[in-house]
Amino acid sequence: MGLVDGKNALVFGVANNRSIAWGITEALHREGARIGLSYAIPQLEKRVFPLAESIGCTFVERADVNNDEELDAVFAKAGEAFGRLDILVHAVAYAEREDLAGNYINTSRQGFITALETSAYSLVALAKRAAPLMTSGGSIITLSYFGAEKVMPRYNVMAVAKAALECSVRYLASDLGPQKIRVNAISAGAIKTLAASGIAGFRLMLKYSEEATPLGRNVTQEDVGNTALWLCSDLSSAVTGETIYVDAGYNILGLHLTNEQRQAFLEPEE
Ligand code: NAD
Repeated sequence: MGLVDGKNALVFGVANNRSIAWGITEALHREGARIGLSYAIPQLEKRVFPLAESIGCTFVERADVNNDEELDAVFAKAGEAFGRLDILVHAVAYAEREDLAGNYINTSRQGFITALETSAYSLVALAKRAAPLMTSGGSIITLSYFGAEKVMPRYNVMAVAKAALECSVRYLASDLGPQKIRVNAISAGAIKTLAASGIAGFRLMLKYSEEATPLGRNVTQEDVGNTALWLCSDLSSAVTGETIYVDAGYNILGLHLTNEQRQAFLEPEE
């Protein structure tokens, strides 16, 4: 018996096999969920269709999360295909490349709107359409990052979008609680994906965080997928409105040290 046997899941955000959404999809599929996928643009079809096929998923629909008509169409089709929806995965974010380099103060008005609309409002747009299909309650999850809380180099406008996203999670959890729909975010540690490669200096971030985390490693798609699985399953039945860290402990630290610096601390002072 799988942890999500008999549940229907609609997943937004698979771009390729490195996507966090794909890690989540694999975990949900492994534990018995029926999967539907929605992807952003036709150019992704050559990657998304074979992935869908590999798990026997036949519901694969394109939608721009900023387009209301396209979202209406996807959820109408999901209603026809699944009848009831139990799980919604929102693993979508976008900001202009120039807004993920340099200083936050240079963010353009349009860059700010684009990042906030695509990365934060889209959760509201998806939740509003998913909720009527969640007739037996449900679980909605999204992906955030620690940059929402503390300044991370170059994360800039995406950090502001993630702060809005985490706050949206709390308000959506309050709105949808009476319908037994839970809404949570996973704040994931850095993982090398297509979206992450848009952040200037991301490779250095990976290197530094690997050395600093209490677990001494970066996180994987599987780490995030398994926590997502828990949030989507009945095991987390009283958890809602939360941001859960899957970051190998990075967020608990006050002082981030490399191995060399840690060693220096352990040596007796002269
Ligand atoms: P990814 O590039 O694989 O996924 C991002 C997805 O967003 C892509 O599938 C892309 O097509 C989709 N998208 C962008 N604009 C869209 C639009 N207008 N309509 C529909 N879809 C759109 O990268 P990822 O790292 O797996 O990102 C997934 C989520 O995880 C994002 O919210 C990201 O901010 C978050 N996250 C990533 C990391 C990391 O280090 N990779 C860490 C914490 C949180």
